[in-house]
Amino acid sequence: METITYNALEKKVLSYTPFDVHKLRRAYIYASKYHQDQKRASGEPYIIHPVNVAYILAMMNADVDTVIAGLLHDVVEDTESSLEEIEKKFNKTIRSLVDGVTKMTKFSSSNKKELTASNIRKIVVSLVRDPRIIIIKLVDRLHNMRTLEYKSLEKQQEKALETLEIYVPLAYYIGASKIKDELENISFRYLKPSLYGDISKQRDDLIKETTNLLNDTLVKVVGLLKKNGVKVKLEIRYKDTYSIYKKIITNHKFETIHDIICIKVLTKNIKDCYLALMYIHEIYTPINNYFKDYIAKPKTNMYKSLHTTVFGPDNRLIQFQIRTFDMERVAIYGLTSYWFKYKNNACIEMQKDLENNFQFFKSLKELDSTILDNIEFLTRIKQELFSSNIYVYTTSGEVIELPNGATVLDFAYKIHTDVGNNMVAAIVNNEAVSFDYVLENQDRVRIITDPNAYVPKEEWLNSVITTKAKNKITEYMKENQEKEDKNTKN
Ligand code: MN
Repeated sequence: METITYNALEKKVLSYTPFDVHKLRRAYIYASKYHQDQKRASGEPYIIHPVNVAYILAMMNADVDTVIAGLLHDVVEDTESSLEEIEKKFNKTIRSLVDGVTKMTKFSSSNKKELTASNIRKIVVSLVRDPRIIIIKLVDRLHNMRTLEYKSLEKQQEKALETLEIYVPLAYYIGASKIKDELENISFRYLKPSLYGDISKQRDDLIKETTNLLNDTLVKVVGLLKKNGVKVKLEIRYKDTYSIYKKIITNHKFETIHDIICIKVLTKNIKDCYLALMYIHEIYTPINNYFKDYIAKPKTNMYKSLHTTVFGPDNRLIQFQIRTFDMERVAIYGLTSYWFKYKNNACIEMQKDLENNFQFFKSLKELDSTILDNIEFLTRIKQELFSSNIYVYTTSGEVIELPNGATVLDFAYKIHTDVGNNMVAAIVNNEAVSFDYVLENQDRVRIITDPNAYVPKEEWLNSVITTKAKNKITEYMKENQEKEDKNTKN
């Protein structure tokens, strides 16, 4: 891998924002001084790592405080430096960012499991405080994964697994798909090297086999769209190895995966997306089941695009992903795309967006406010947030994200506490179902409520799996009990 120097970092940051160069340089000198006696597992000077982390952040157009925090992210954890000193020499924001990414080590009753759990909890809930902490942590992990070859086999597998369990879902939730894809593929390579090799080979062969054909297709599509006044930029993409693997383990054959070959169509505005779709469908026959309009109904991490799979030339299945340049930036960078959009205040916009638009954010807050034990918290986020989720619809067509195994009663509580408490019946895809009915992807759910008829009962607890539903049912029963007690006393 090419070595990133401090000068390259400085140049990179200057390329997108004017800033106080001395401050960045001071941070570099400060970190170099504290890390001077340390080496990476590769034998290189330790400072290479923070410089790379800062550089990756700069490639995302991160604000200067975040880049500096990237340079300083390991000094408090690994050296004699302190948060107080960082605040004095730099500023409060940088202190708070560095604090967020610093592991807790001093613990009264510290067994390893508890310590790991509390550290992961600290990272995950830092999203509530300042989303930039998660981003620094993700980039830190990314650089460590890129350089994992120098670690022992045991360490490699441990890190790869932890990355898939914790960091990949986090990256997914904030829409940082570029980081997510790279983390997944590296982890997969360490966890299942031979399978990784097999699938990569098949993928490489497919690329060789189809390159000419696809280049011809690009020319044809661009020509057609240009003739009709739609300006576009096209890119060829092949599904990455880990995503192919995920399809294969759910019973797909490599040959029949419908979106291995993808052509991205980038347009200036939304109208051109639909026009492009129309013209593409005119020359290639679409497969109805694979058409998705994520522009009208974005994914829960704010991803927007039109997807259509068509019978392309040579009868190959080709997926077209059609979106605007703005949507493309969100598709790649997610929440961090605000760094490209706003010079200042990007962080405030990120926070607003998280609170208003990202569904998992509320679930995360709910878990954090109700579960005290760190190990239980870790188990629950893995089950509820990080395992594969299902997506169902409300009657008004809103997409609701729930953990796998969630029931209609979980759905009701997810909509609103009152909807859960007053649920009397549920209708899924036009059929009445029981309270413990387990929802599936794409289900259309209607909850019927009656404020007078029913109240939550203890056995409802057996019909739910989400923390919110469990808490609300327990809460209701407790309040009711207290009321009854009072009444009896009177
Ligand atoms: Mn680090």
